[in-house]
Amino acid sequence: MLPTSIHNLVQLFTRLPGIGPKVAERFVYHFLMNGKGEVKRFIDGFEELAKTIQSCESCFTFAESSPCSLCGNAMRDKTMVCVVAMPSQIPAIEKTGYHGVYHVLRGVINPSEDKGPEHLKIIELKKRTGIKELILALNPDLDGEATMLYLQQEFKNTGVTITRLARGLPMGSDIEYADEITLGDAFKNRKTL
Ligand SMILES: [Zn+2]
Repeated sequence: MLPTSIHNLVQLFTRLPGIGPKVAERFVYHFLMNGKGEVKRFIDGFEELAKTIQSCESCFTFAESSPCSLCGNAMRDKTMVCVVAMPSQIPAIEKTGYHGVYHVLRGVINPSEDKGPEHLKIIELKKRTGIKELILALNPDLDGEATMLYLQQEFKNTGVTITRLARGLPMGSDIEYADEITLGDAFKNRKTL
């Protein structure tokens, strides 16, 4: 029923996480109702993003430089690597005063989405040298737990100490939204696996 260009854009928006056809359609009508200026603002934003943001060669976060400002900072403890699923979780951990570096897996093992360990930056993590402690800071939900178990096995007998955040974080919670006191406590009381 929809004109082709509307239909195509709706299809594109449904590729975004958590966006179904109804919401996608609302997005398209938002652009149509707000005119060419709004379209241009988004196009400019996407172009700027593609031009300026790159993947850090060391921790795989997205940054304006590679290595990113955290990996490139001589004051950070490079022997301590905090493993997170997404870059969006780093600011919450930074607030706790953590002084090591990170490794962004770009997701977690998720069988229902056909996402296996090979889709994550695990080989890249194993290639990193000089790690003494690996802090697993994945969300305490089913997929997060499965991923932490996998990593624990992968790093068995490598001499790397593996710790995970204490259980203070409620099951099913998201590190990205955890308050700094709870997250700070979970960090301080992290457990060796
Ligand atoms: Zn980095």
